[in-house]
Amino acid sequence: MRMISPEWKWAAALAPAGETEYIVVHHAAAEGPAEAVHAAHLARGWSGIGYHFYVRLDGTVYSGRPLGTIGAHTAGYNSRSVGVCFEGNFEVRAMPTEQLAAGRELVAYLRGLYPKAKIVRHRDLDATACPGKNFPFEAMTGGALYRVQAGAFTDRARAERYAERLRAAGFADAYVVG
Ligand SMILES: [Zn+2]
Repeated sequence: MRMISPEWKWAAALAPAGETEYIVVHHAAAEGPAEAVHAAHLARGWSGIGYHFYVRLDGTVYSGRPLGTIGAHTAGYNSRSVGVCFEGNFEVRAMPTEQLAAGRELVAYLRGLYPKAKIVRHRDLDATACPGKNFPFEAMTGGALYRVQAGAFTDRARAERYAERLRAAGFADAYVVG
């Protein structure tokens, strides 16, 4: 995982967070660097970038608010959650492979840090479309990245053979569903 940790200048001291109960994924609904998110959040009168991590389309991960401090990303949950934002608008576009791979790594890393935390989408906690209908939540947080839909094949044996070929090609997580 390529991680960049900018020296953010906070407009106000960041408050310590409580226990992490949720890891919340968001989309930016826009494209641009982490610095632009920081500037936009400062302009809203916040202390600075509201997320703990920002994952760019090319898979580069930026740290935002330090873990253990309160973020600004999910109303009512900020003191007990870690916020991860993905560059892009996944209401309209698909997620690049590099960004999905970085997201999987980051989620796995956070799961290790907070084994009891639940991984959710912003829309699971609030009335919002975030992180967009094309956000690959299952692929990012599930145990398997390649799910072969049995219904897409004439019979299940064919689906199983296809999954086998994927595994032989190096996709160790491929399995059949449905
Ligand atoms: Zn959101």
